[in-house]
Amino acid sequence: MTSVSPPFDDRDGWIWYNGKLVPWREAKVHVLNHGLHYASSVFEGERVYNGKVFKLTEHSERLRVSAQLLGFEVPYSAAQLDAYTLEVVKANKVVNGYVRPVAFRGSEMMAISAKKNKTHVAIAAWEWPSYFSKEAKERGLNLTISKWRRPDPQTAPTASKAAGLYMICTLSKHAAEDAGFDDAMMLDWRGYIAEATGANIFLIQNGEIHTPLPDCFLNGITRMTVIDMARAQGIKVVERHIKPEELADTQEVFLTGTAAEITPVGKIDKYSFVVGNMSKKLMADYEELVRS
Ligand code: PMP
Repeated sequence: MTSVSPPFDDRDGWIWYNGKLVPWREAKVHVLNHGLHYASSVFEGERVYNGKVFKLTEHSERLRVSAQLLGFEVPYSAAQLDAYTLEVVKANKVVNGYVRPVAFRGSEMMAISAKKNKTHVAIAAWEWPSYFSKEAKERGLNLTISKWRRPDPQTAPTASKAAGLYMICTLSKHAAEDAGFDDAMMLDWRGYIAEATGANIFLIQNGEIHTPLPDCFLNGITRMTVIDMARAQGIKVVERHIKPEELADTQEVFLTGTAAEITPVGKIDKYSFVVGNMSKKLMADYEELVRS
């Protein structure tokens, strides 16, 4: 485990919180809030490259949609969220970093029903170079298949970037790390390949890209960007249900996500892959795109 230092509640800087910038250490919640007890909380993860937030409006819109899928409204338009995000990035002088917006129900009611609860919104930004280490990115990640599965969309609001859906991601990630892996790959409720704990997954099979259909997990903004990028280069991209046994006929694998960017995978349990030319080219092209 990498240590987190300094802790996230004890830093210098500013956090945009319910309408204004507040000193970092003062952006607090009460212990009796609905988000904490009943997981009525949604969030975003955004990247700052050279002072600019990549796909900012897409993220602001997704935050609003995620909340709507949980039955509450973010009380700001996407354009307002964009402006507040840029304000907090500037206030913290973030050049290459990460932005974390979060929206959650407050404390007016403290039971299952939360119809009168106000929505709180906070946006934090900090300098943050990379999610996986440079070394792990070069050799390819070592993944293991989790015992936890992405739920049926009839069981949970799977299209929402909802905090509650991360409970099984943390369990999967911890089990993987305890066993010496970098991350876990999760299957879906039917047994098809779904994604990693915080990133989507792509397989390269005989020069074509195959990626799971996002019908029960987040259709990542990076995922969509990489699909567009690959198609624009004339690479065939197939979105379909993929069985884990197909990893035997797969030459390259990579993950995509705002934090993960494009990160190659070297192993998933008994299956091995190369960090091949197609992955390397897409990584370089993505790097160029985010900084353009
Ligand atoms: N799946 C999960 C579970 C994630 O946490 C993320 C990161 N937000 C993704 C996929 C990738 O989404 P995006 O490319 O929009 O960051």
